[in-house]
Amino acid sequence: MTSKSKNLPSALNEWHCLLGDNSMLVGEPAAIQYGACTTPVQRSIPAALLPTSQEQVVALVKIAATYKVPLYPISTGRNWGYGTANPVVDGCVVVDLSRMNRIMDMDENLGLVTLEPGVTQRILNDYLEERGLDFLVPVTGAGPNCSLVGNALERGYGITPYTDHFTAVTSLEAVLADGSIYRPALTGLGGEAVDQAYKWGLGPYLDGLFSQGSFGIVTKMTIALARRPETIQTFFFSVVADNGLESAVGAVREALRATTGISGSINLMNPQRVLSMLVPHPSRETGLTGAIPTETVTRLAREYQVTAWTGVGALYGEKKIVSAARSVIKGKLRPYVQRLVFLDSASLRRGKGLLGIIPRQLPLSGKLSMMAERLDATLNIMEGHPSEIALPLAYWKSGSLPRQGMDHDPARDGCGLIWYAPLVPMVPERVRCYVEMVKNICPSYGLDPLITLTSVSDRCFDSTVPLLFSKNNLDEAVKAQECFKNLFEAGQREGFLPYRLGVHSMELATEQEGSYWDTVRRIKKALDPGCIIAPGRYEPGCHLGKEETD
Ligand code: ADP
Repeated sequence: MTSKSKNLPSALNEWHCLLGDNSMLVGEPAAIQYGACTTPVQRSIPAALLPTSQEQVVALVKIAATYKVPLYPISTGRNWGYGTANPVVDGCVVVDLSRMNRIMDMDENLGLVTLEPGVTQRILNDYLEERGLDFLVPVTGAGPNCSLVGNALERGYGITPYTDHFTAVTSLEAVLADGSIYRPALTGLGGEAVDQAYKWGLGPYLDGLFSQGSFGIVTKMTIALARRPETIQTFFFSVVADNGLESAVGAVREALRATTGISGSINLMNPQRVLSMLVPHPSRETGLTGAIPTETVTRLAREYQVTAWTGVGALYGEKKIVSAARSVIKGKLRPYVQRLVFLDSASLRRGKGLLGIIPRQLPLSGKLSMMAERLDATLNIMEGHPSEIALPLAYWKSGSLPRQGMDHDPARDGCGLIWYAPLVPMVPERVRCYVEMVKNICPSYGLDPLITLTSVSDRCFDSTVPLLFSKNNLDEAVKAQECFKNLFEAGQREGFLPYRLGVHSMELATEQEGSYWDTVRRIKKALDPGCIIAPGRYEPGCHLGKEETD
């Protein structure tokens, strides 16, 4: 990297001529703005560039290529739990695309939106509301200020009908390491409209290279949006005893299979995960180990009527179809789960229903209103409205919540969070094996096993386990990192592997031998021989200096 840092001042001069003072940060201001992270990682970030157009991205990439200075593109850089805005390796100049936040086109007939990388969940939501357009924003728990492009590129998922966010991407444009622009084949042949309407295009499917890849800077993306349906019904259920998990998993699989296209994802959460939404962290009771003792979990669960597993899902569609799907779900789930309730959000908004349902489950009035508030926010997210409801989780163990009126920003607020997010086959015994693995490993590092299983199809769950720790405590941070590594390795032995990695954990996968990473290395060498774009991001070569040409 020495030759690269020697060239940095010359590159900075040229970028300054291109962008001016207000569109770049150099030295400490860049390190402060982009270095904050919820994981123990902090990379050295010499500068950040904030282009406002694709032309500027092309020009700045050419400068980077001339001086061999590596770049790290981010859309909004809120990749909390996976590295925030930190590059995978030291010395990269961050390319912050958040000022490129135009919605370039919205085809109301086809439900296709074409947008720039800085467009956030909030910006799209406002755009749709202002125009009275009835589409769902592909929301995630990361909240209103996060980009749609960054999440789709990381293959994030939500709970609304178009669950898998990269599946919904039909077309994209990217600036390659030599400053040329990648456009899909159909667009190149003059068929931009069909290209945007048809995901696979023509010829080898290359758009996918840019998701979880380091082959270009994506400057434009078309996303299919789900239409707001006539009705949305959210359902909740409980699995009272832990030994009911296996049959509940089988029932969930059958329910999803029978309602494909109507049902969004179904989530299953263990007591610790549900309690993290309901009670302050009982830190006085954690003792020396750091994890909440089983007796405390049992007591709190009893007090708040939290069962061994809590399930939540939603049905989307025309009233008649949803009503039929509801009967199907009841038929599939009722024999195996308890307290199955359906909530029609429209009637809830009118104030009916809620009080009829909650008192039976939670007869304590102070807790009732809090529960109702949380429920309302949960329904909001099911309905495709961006919400910060999931963000307090990051603050549960370590941070104090932001002041009233301020947005949540776990990295800024010093929260410690690493996500472990493995895929688990939807096979009851495999799910049990996975759950026991997490329950055994986390407490041995002083961490609570907060387990969610989210269906990503009727064949597979993705599980999310937030490893929460105090960033001020070095020992806790080290343990959280070690815990992640242990989970990764134990999971690998059992066949549970993450769908996504953080900047702290790329190497755990990319440094393993195999034809896949070898192919990635060869593509990287062909497209980006100077390792200009996001070195080390889901690729094994650049950060080891193997590809340096001088
Ligand atoms: P968000 O703020 O929506 O959570 P980020 O902007 O942090 O998402 O993006 C997540 C990751 O995806 C980044 O760390 C980066 O590696 C990659 N990425 C984001 N936007 C782009 C882009 N426009 N082009 C190429 N890679 C990107």
